[in-house]
Parts: sequence; structure tokens; C-alpha cells
Amino acid sequence: MIYNIINLEERFKRDIERLFDLFKSDGDQLVYDHSQLETDDMITIEFHYHINYSLIFVQAKVLNRMDTITFEHDRTISLETDEQIRKVVKQGISYVWIQILEHLTGKKHDWGILTGIRPTKLYHRLSRKLPYDEVNRTLARDYLLKPNKIALLREIVQRQLQVIPDLYQIDEEVSLYIGIPFCPTKCAYCTFPAYAITGRNGTVEDFLKGLEYEIEQIGKWLKNSGRKVTTIYFGGGTPTSIEADQLDHLFQQLVRWIDLQSVREITVEAGRPDTITNDKIDVLNRWNVDRMSINPQTFTQETLNVIGRHHTVEETIEKFHLARQMNVNNINMDLIIGLPGETLKELQYSLEQIHQLQPESLTIHTMAFKRASYLTKNKEEFEITDPEEIQRMMDYATTWTKKNDYQPYYLYRQKNMLGNLENIGYSREGKESLYNILIMEEKQTIIGLGSGAVSKLIAPKSDTVIRFPNPKEPRAYIETVKESTMKKIKQLNQIFHS
Ligand code: SF4
Repeated sequence: MIYNIINLEERFKRDIERLFDLFKSDGDQLVYDHSQLETDDMITIEFHYHINYSLIFVQAKVLNRMDTITFEHDRTISLETDEQIRKVVKQGISYVWIQILEHLTGKKHDWGILTGIRPTKLYHRLSRKLPYDEVNRTLARDYLLKPNKIALLREIVQRQLQVIPDLYQIDEEVSLYIGIPFCPTKCAYCTFPAYAITGRNGTVEDFLKGLEYEIEQIGKWLKNSGRKVTTIYFGGGTPTSIEADQLDHLFQQLVRWIDLQSVREITVEAGRPDTITNDKIDVLNRWNVDRMSINPQTFTQETLNVIGRHHTVEETIEKFHLARQMNVNNINMDLIIGLPGETLKELQYSLEQIHQLQPESLTIHTMAFKRASYLTKNKEEFEITDPEEIQRMMDYATTWTKKNDYQPYYLYRQKNMLGNLENIGYSREGKESLYNILIMEEKQTIIGLGSGAVSKLIAPKSDTVIRFPNPKEPRAYIETVKESTMKKIKQLNQIFHS
């Protein structure tokens, strides 16, 4: 079917295309202002909107050979800037468009008009002004969210506030993200900064020197400006790809320059089990790392081979037991729903294995086709799971986690996710990752150090997020680290008026 949109301003086209992508079937197409209005395989949708004092009124007529159906919606505007007004008009148009798409396709979109990454942020914002029941009504009425998603958001937001009671006042502190951009091999779906590492080499040593410089400078800035650090997260890449003595030296530099007294949590991603050794766990324990991730993604060996994760399922299990024997008592495991060739059967098997291991937290991602990944560029090489099966897998995971006492505590969505679902972090009570909540809800500045680390600078009492990315590629990072650290500090001074 061809959907012919007429009379829609250029600035709203991207939004309706995003929603269209969620509903379209094979062969469906969106065109604009096609002169031929009605054919057997074309439906024309004509948009109009006008603003009258404090009200915007949106109307869309759906015209086909048989009849004309009109969809209408109005919403209040109490905002002043052009950008704020544009946002409300966009919401009105999206609202009408979703209703048309649901009517024409018979499909439902549980997230309503929300296409953004962080729906929990909206829930937080509304719940600071309104009682919970009113928030829920607003989400259903103005955003067309279905009850299952509203309940999920409410559960997550309430949990976050239990875990970080000062979440709304934590903006004077900062968290640190330390990016180590190396991995043993690159996974097919990955777009993170992850450069192949083969033991000890010059690039790694040079990179670590650059990182130490950044730690020193940011440490001095923290001290001079009197800022406390809430959490520290080592990600990448896989931080445990570097050698144990390199990791140890990095921690020495961290405690040398940064006061860790206020730090509530340190996490180290050890995502690839093939990088974990006794010596490295020993280092993490010595430096009181609170939380560690060992990521199976799946417990089906054929899938691991297909996606280029050159480790075995046995290795994941073995390294998990090793960490346990060495008294690591907060382990997260990641699974991905919808890896190539996988169905509900493989997910059930993975969850059986998780049940055997009993990690403290479990993050369930849905496969996303990121533009720059090998998988997206070479889709024809892979067997892609269909959206209905993905939905069944997600439903199974939701029921399974509830039954096994894993509660959701953070959530985010990505573009081009299979089945348009979400990624959800679950944990046992008291084992939530504070950093994950802080980065997702954007309630404080996160200073990114290392290759590919993106700083998110948020002035106290502000909602504006300024992104400051470090170069992804280690060589470029090494060459620019001095200059870019100074720029970052300048921006930090502006944000915090120090
Ligand atoms: S282990 Fe993680 S960071 Fe490394 S290549 Fe795979 S997905 Fe990317």
C-alpha cells in the first residue's frame, strides 16, 4: 500500500516517518504530495493544523476510493518559545497519525507517540508535578501509551527513587565513565569503540598514558571545584582486555588523583569471558570493585560463532564460577533477544542457564540494527528473527524475570530495534547499578574519559544535556587528549560556574 501524505510541513516529516516504520509491512511505502489522490493501492492522508490562542487543533482526512474518514485532536499550549510550540504541534500530529495507522493496519503500538530513547525521563518529569494516578492518565490520554508500558514505567521510576532517594538533588555531583576501547574480536552487531587487542602492544600502552593524563587533569578539576564523585563505570570495549598489571596501574592512578570517599559504586565491564583471568579478578577485588558484568548474550554456541564472539559457552560458565569462587558477589549478565537464527527455544535455554548461575542482575537487550555494524551492512548473510517471534520472546522474558525475582530498574529504547521493543535492566533487590540509572535518567553530569567516551554535561537544575565525545579511535585519542581534556575542563567550568 502507498500512503500519500499531503499538506505536511517539512519539519514534521521525519517524525511521521519514524512512526510509519513501526507499522509498515513489506511493500508499504510513504510518499508526499502525490498528485494522483485515489487509486486502489494508494491511500491519501491530508493534514491540517491551526493554533487558536492556547489550543492547537490537528485534523487529518483519510481519503480512498470508497470514503473519507476524519481524525481530529486538540491539545493545550501553555508554552512560549517557538521550539516548545513546535514540540506540541509535533505531538498533536503524531497523535493523529498513530490513530490513523492503528486504524488502517490493525496493529497496535504500545509506546503510543513516544519514539525517544528514554520514556522513563518523561515519567520522572511528570511525576514531579503530578500525583502518580494523574501521570498515568496523562500518558494514556496525551501520549497514547498502553497500560502495560505505563505500569512498567511506574515500577521502574519508583524503584529508582528507592535506590537513589536523592536522584533529583544529585546534580551537584558527577559520575565518571572510563572507556577502554579494546576487545579480543569485534562482534557483528557492535558499534562501540572496540579495537582488536592481541596481548601487550604499543597502542595500548600509549592509550593508557593518555587516559592517565585525563584522569590526572579531571582529578585536579574535581579537587579544585570541590565536586564529589557518585559512581565510576569502566566500559568500552572490554576493560578486562588489558593485562592485569595495566589494570592495576590504572586503579593506582585513579586513587592517586581522585578522592573515592563519596563513590557509591564502581562497576567494571568484563563482558567477554575470554578476557577474564584470576589475576584480573584479583585486581578488581583489591580495588574494591562492587559490580562486574560477564556477558553471555546467548548460551547457544552456534549463535556465538555466527556473531563473531570468539569464546565458548563453557568459558562463560567457567568464568562466572571463577568470579564467584573469588567472592565477587554482584555480577550482571547481558542477554540479547533476537540474535541471528534465534527463537523462543534458544531464549528459554539461555534463561535456564541463567537460573543455574543466579547472577544478581540481568540485562535483556533486544537486537538493534545499528547503522555502522557489520550485521546491518550485511543483513543478507544472517537469519533475522521475525517481529512476532521477538514479541513472544520478550513476553516470555518478562514473565520469567518476574517469577525469578528479577525486578526492572532501568529501561531504554534504541532506533531500529527488532519488534520496536526495549532494553530492560533487571536486578535482585539492592543489586541495581546506580550508574545505569544516572546515565539513563540524565540527572547529573557524567564525565567520559578514554577513547569513545562521551561526556554528558548537565548544569545543576537544568535539563539541557551537552554531549562532549572523545575520539573513538585510540590513535586519534592519543594525539588529541591534551587539547580535548582542556576543552572539556573549560566546558565543565562553564556548567558549574567554577
Ligand atoms: S564485546 Fe562488547 S564492545 Fe566488544 S566487540 Fe563485542 S559488543 Fe562490542
